[in-house]
Amino acid sequence: MPSLPTLPRYMTRFRCIAERCEDSCCSGMKVPVSESQWQRLQAAESGSPEHAERLRQHVSLNPGGASSERAFIEVPLHADCPFLDTERLCSLQRRHGEAVLPDICANFPRILTRWGERLEVSGTLACPEVARLCLLAEDALEPVPVDSTSTFVPRPEVARPIPVNSEDAYCLHAETLRDAMLRLLRQSQYPLASRLAMLGQLAYGLDGFYFRGTESFRGAERASARARLKEELQRFDIPEVLDAVHEDFTGLSLPGGPCVGLFSAVLKARGATGRGERFTTWVRGVLESLQLEDGGASGPEAAWRIYVERWQHLETHHGERVRQYFHNAALHHLWRSPFTDSPSLLAYVLRLALKVGLLRLTLAGHPRVAALCPEPASTSEAREQLDLAAVETFQLVAKHVEQAPEFLSLAEGLSGTGRGADTLGKVLVFATF
Ligand code: SF4
Repeated sequence: MPSLPTLPRYMTRFRCIAERCEDSCCSGMKVPVSESQWQRLQAAESGSPEHAERLRQHVSLNPGGASSERAFIEVPLHADCPFLDTERLCSLQRRHGEAVLPDICANFPRILTRWGERLEVSGTLACPEVARLCLLAEDALEPVPVDSTSTFVPRPEVARPIPVNSEDAYCLHAETLRDAMLRLLRQSQYPLASRLAMLGQLAYGLDGFYFRGTESFRGAERASARARLKEELQRFDIPEVLDAVHEDFTGLSLPGGPCVGLFSAVLKARGATGRGERFTTWVRGVLESLQLEDGGASGPEAAWRIYVERWQHLETHHGERVRQYFHNAALHHLWRSPFTDSPSLLAYVLRLALKVGLLRLTLAGHPRVAALCPEPASTSEAREQLDLAAVETFQLVAKHVEQAPEFLSLAEGLSGTGRGADTLGKVLVFATF
């Protein structure tokens, strides 16, 4: 009997806010339309010459493509989808119901993963409303089992499967591993930096025998590999082990200038790709506030000092709130992005640590945060400004940076083979950032 579908609580609260949304889910997207969806759309719009003509104008056919990509709706970066109405709701859905929509439009901003028989739903922070719900509520990441997905997910059938019942040991044990990682991340008595170091140490302990394509769980070696896996996981349930990692890690003091240099190069490259006014204004504001703009007199070391000062201020006056953003975002990452996409657990943890580092830098560089920092006290108005800055930062990074080639190649270049002490060292560097 399949177990119940699970959602984090923030996704049970999600409703599209349409015309009140500060962004648009469609801008810059190339939406694939399958053969059957294309037939349905044409039939639905055929009753009106005006609507049929609009379909012809805005849907590009892809006759030689796979049946899942028989056509595309291409939305320019600076524009809304041509099928949105004046209230910024989908006119196709309004006239013909959800059934005519391509899968990606029907499900957005939901991310669907099938762990064996169990469906899991999360959201992408690329949607500002999802970002708000995920970051700003303390209970946002509580898992909620639901009887039926129909209220929350229009097309559960397109969920991405993780073959947890296969012979592939990396996927077979993935859910157990993910549960252990979630347990570690929930140990909020430790700073997030220490929890990232714990994840790194856990991944490093498994590095020799648990990775994509591992042969260690085959034949005669299977029982000992399973026992080793269990032992490593149990080790990270022992409070003294966690205390020891935390103590070792907090003794580390690493220079942050080189990390600032790497992150600012990614931001500048993304800012130059013309990803729309909202994003370029945000990038410019962050770089200027940290004195990192091109031609500026200061360099990464000076920006690092500004960053450290701003974080000291944030910790003093808004510590609980900023800890909540990052705690929720890290848990969200484990829900939204299965580690089986990475060649190893250590490569996955490095990418998470990099993302957290980039978010910390860009939040500290947000002009609203810069404006808050001379303020001595934590007023409710200051907290409102901070929330606005956090939602904008996490949303724009999710939409324009974390899946972008510049960021992915930085993560791949740093992780190298994705295994070994060198990769663990880099996890620790970015975790201290
Ligand atoms: S980005 Fe989210 S809130 Fe905004 S229009 Fe799209 S689904 Fe709705």
